[in-house]
Amino acid sequence: MDKVSLSTQIKIEAKKLGFSACGIAQANALTTDAAYLKSWLESGKHGSMQYMERHIDKRTDPRLLVENTKSLVVVLLNYYPEKKQEEKFPQLAKFAYGDDYHDIIKVKLYALLEKINSLCYPEKVCGRAFTDSAPILERQWARQAGLGWIGKNGNLIHPTFGSFCFIGELLIDISLSYDIPMENHCGKCNKCLSACPTNAINENQSIDATKCISYLTIEHKQPIPKQFHAKLTNQLFGCDCCQDVCPWNKKAVATTVQEFFPSKGLLTLTSNDWIALSEEQFAQFLPFSPIKRAGYKKITDTAVLLHRYSSNRS
Ligand code: SF4
Ligand code: SF4
Repeated sequence: MDKVSLSTQIKIEAKKLGFSACGIAQANALTTDAAYLKSWLESGKHGSMQYMERHIDKRTDPRLLVENTKSLVVVLLNYYPEKKQEEKFPQLAKFAYGDDYHDIIKVKLYALLEKINSLCYPEKVCGRAFTDSAPILERQWARQAGLGWIGKNGNLIHPTFGSFCFIGELLIDISLSYDIPMENHCGKCNKCLSACPTNAINENQSIDATKCISYLTIEHKQPIPKQFHAKLTNQLFGCDCCQDVCPWNKKAVATTVQEFFPSKGLLTLTSNDWIALSEEQFAQFLPFSPIKRAGYKKITDTAVLLHRYSSNRS
């Protein structure tokens, strides 16, 4: 099969496996992104995420991560929920309504690799699947694969599905036909900058993670600094403020992936409910949830803050 037909077939198989979109990029060094990443790290905007300082070369060149990589098959999986959480409840980022996505996406990616192997038989295609699980600049690779552009809020925006999508990628050792990176369509819009409660989005479109509620409520292992307490705007785990206002998410369609449907009772927990959970109950209630990434202490400490500030507001 020629490269163009094979690439078309791979995208068809990706859709059959349930992925929302699939694009293909040539593995090479992302030199512009590497320079930007280095200056962002030097400015300290990654806060305590020291792991980002490691493997910069691999982050921007997947050939150094997996030997013989020639192509990246990049996929998106829409997780936009049918029903959003009411604002009065401590807010969870929508990606955390259901089960953790890592295994779900990896299983599908390895199924896609099997399909690629059957399409290429008797040639053997080797590859590895990743989703937020290795030093790879996923949004940049999704852009390279023609799946969207990186908006001013730092998210990959697909013209149909918007930004509420997980990204995964297969690094494989065959050459394919490559997609063209998409132009940025943010234009003069600044809605995400205005909506950010902590001014974490800079005019130059870089995100200051040290001010970002997603970072403060998930990644940052220390207590949330006092200057942000009143600005948490009822966000318990993550923050979707800059995505909720994005015009490109107006057309978002509800996911059909059952594992991403909200866990029973999760969306109506009050701050008191969160505070009252024992560590054991927390683990039992959320066995497959990404919320566990923040950890019991972080969640209950943040719930205490939200409770205090909601009492102050009322
Ligand atoms: S996730 Fe929230 S805090 Fe972070 S940049 Fe977006 S709106 Fe701002
Ligand atoms: S809200 Fe506007 S500026 Fe921000 S990412 Fe969306 S389109 Fe771009």
